[in-house]
Amino acid sequence: MVNTDRLNPTVDDVIDEARRYIHDPISLTMIERAANYASVHHAGQFRRSGEPYVVHVINVAYILATLRVGPQTIAAGFLHDVIEDCGISRDELAEEFDPEIADLVEAVTKIGTLKYKGKNDPEYQAANHRKIFIAMARDVRVIIIKLVDRLHNMRTLQFQPEASQKRISSETLDVYAPIAHRLGISAIKNELEDLCFYYLNRDEYYHIAHLVEAKKAERDAAVSTMITEISEMMEEHGIQYRIFGRSKHLYSIYNKMIKKHKRFDEILDLLAIRIITKSELNCYEILGYIHAKYRPIPGRLKDYIAVPKTNMYQSLHTTIIGEDGKIFEVQIRTEEMDAIAERGVAAHWRYKEGVKYDARAEQKEIENKLSWFKNLTTYSEDENENSSASEYMEALQHDVFSASVYVMTPKGRVIDLPNGATPIDFAYRIHTDVGHTAVGAIVNDAMVPLNTELHTGDVVQIKTMKGTGPSEDWLKFVKTNQARNKIRSYLTKKETEAHESRVDEGEKMLADELKKRGFNPKEYMEKKKLENIFKDFRVSNHTDLMYGIAVKSINVTSVCEHLTNQKAHISEKEALSRVLGREAHHRVSKSGLVIPGIESMKMSLAHCCLPVYGEPIKGYITKTEGVKVHRADCPNIADAKARLIDVQWDEGDNERYYDADLSVTARDRSFLLTDIVTVVSQCKATLESINAAVNHDTLTSSIKMVIRVHDISHLDNVIANIRKVESVIIVERTAH
Ligand code: MN
Repeated sequence: MVNTDRLNPTVDDVIDEARRYIHDPISLTMIERAANYASVHHAGQFRRSGEPYVVHVINVAYILATLRVGPQTIAAGFLHDVIEDCGISRDELAEEFDPEIADLVEAVTKIGTLKYKGKNDPEYQAANHRKIFIAMARDVRVIIIKLVDRLHNMRTLQFQPEASQKRISSETLDVYAPIAHRLGISAIKNELEDLCFYYLNRDEYYHIAHLVEAKKAERDAAVSTMITEISEMMEEHGIQYRIFGRSKHLYSIYNKMIKKHKRFDEILDLLAIRIITKSELNCYEILGYIHAKYRPIPGRLKDYIAVPKTNMYQSLHTTIIGEDGKIFEVQIRTEEMDAIAERGVAAHWRYKEGVKYDARAEQKEIENKLSWFKNLTTYSEDENENSSASEYMEALQHDVFSASVYVMTPKGRVIDLPNGATPIDFAYRIHTDVGHTAVGAIVNDAMVPLNTELHTGDVVQIKTMKGTGPSEDWLKFVKTNQARNKIRSYLTKKETEAHESRVDEGEKMLADELKKRGFNPKEYMEKKKLENIFKDFRVSNHTDLMYGIAVKSINVTSVCEHLTNQKAHISEKEALSRVLGREAHHRVSKSGLVIPGIESMKMSLAHCCLPVYGEPIKGYITKTEGVKVHRADCPNIADAKARLIDVQWDEGDNERYYDADLSVTARDRSFLLTDIVTVVSQCKATLESINAAVNHDTLTSSIKMVIRVHDISHLDNVIANIRKVESVIIVERTAH
């Protein structure tokens, strides 16, 4: 049944076929040169059938010519195996022919390296396999060459061992036939399906073939009667037409029987007639005449002329009851529609001589027409969350072939990712744990950085190490929200854990301090007592107080004192406010400073060194602005001993915050500033300003910052923690 004994065409046959629609002598010569080049380079190579290898490429070129493709595509058909089998490079082909042909052959070769794992592999997804196939092709012509290549290999599959026959047939049925269908190339799709059917399910194949054969004479007679009747009708109305009977291919009959649970004789369109006419108008005219004469079956009329299928198929379909009750499916279409129905994209693509031919512009046009490509190359769902629907469509139409990247695991599982995705995105797509413990990536056998951009066809392998975790840096380059969210939630969880342990630590520090002073922690750390001092330390809850103690932004000694002197402390404050009123209280401690014995002196903090509560200070008596308070070690007052007086911080005042100037020197690296800012905020200090300058000679970064702190121990804590930041060399306070 399967025709495996075709006569092989010769190079002359290919040229003759091409000459039917290509008349430019330069193009014809180029095709001939490609044929010779293939013969020379494949010389000495043989197929399993025993035939010279070149027979295969001549067949491919011949089928391409029957599809009316352009001269470059026919040439690429002749050359499609020379990179793979003859060790010719793309550049050599570009030099010998032209870059366009070289690119076509290279793309065909690259698709050939795609590994098909088959349905038995649980990771295998046929849909993804088709996607990567299309994405790797990047050009409709490459897909057509590859389909034709596969068609000829399927025609000669009898020479392969049985295991290969089964494997190649399932791949063809899962991947190639659906692509041919989507591209509307039904001639190739039908032949591929029947060949696969034969190799994958020979019993069923023969069963249906016999059923078809048994009824053949009867069907042929019915069809020919109907053809005669319709022909008479056409002549009568003077309409130009071609009419013929057609048979469904076996695999589609089988599918209908299996999927729709129908008996063989129930499959309506076994008797099928096709009428080809001149114009669209003729199609509707013919439909009208046929419906006037024969009873149509309701609900079976389909107008694919007004509403074409996504693969560009156009035709009128109707089902009618013939004279003796036989049922016929009738298809009515124009010559052009028929060409598209048989050859799909290939028909549309057919070489138009004389017209200025622009392969790229034409490919764009086809892609726009084939709405199917839009479904094929959709972004992963989480990628369009942040963009509007119109931006999404625009991006999609921008370049359908590179909208997404498709990469593979070493086992051949296909993973689709948004453009620009990295090994980290890939790792999280495989498994959350793979993402969390990723330490390296191997792409196409080479170790690459984790932020490397992946490309379609890359084989990606992730190296993991137990006990490691994601880095905050990854957030800067991951492209999928999936990876971003997983990294964030991991980091947050870790931070929470760290925070919790700090809170425990703070509780322990406070308990120890109380014990040291002879107080019972149980008694003094009771909920009510702690709540009473929250305001004193500018915290709103237990957790913040203990955390502050642990990171030393809150002085544990001071907390201890407040807790144990709660009564006295509160009553002292109350008494003070009763006597002086709120304003008076504030005025006294406004600067946070007192000079022993001179309560009312005008005092302010010097701007040059910005002293912080609790550190050693000196007062400098100015002529007009009262006392300026400097750090004891401020260089600006070193030579002015005569005008200095002793000053003290007002111990009753802990409401104020103080600015401090810091200068940080560090080896320059990515995310340095981010890390420093994070540390500052983790220490509960406020960042007032930050400035960084990079010295490109020393590759160091010089950072000036102003932070707002509670007191000197808070500041010391911040400085200590900035020193711990990776690549930080020096942290110092500055004076101007
Ligand atoms: Mn081949």
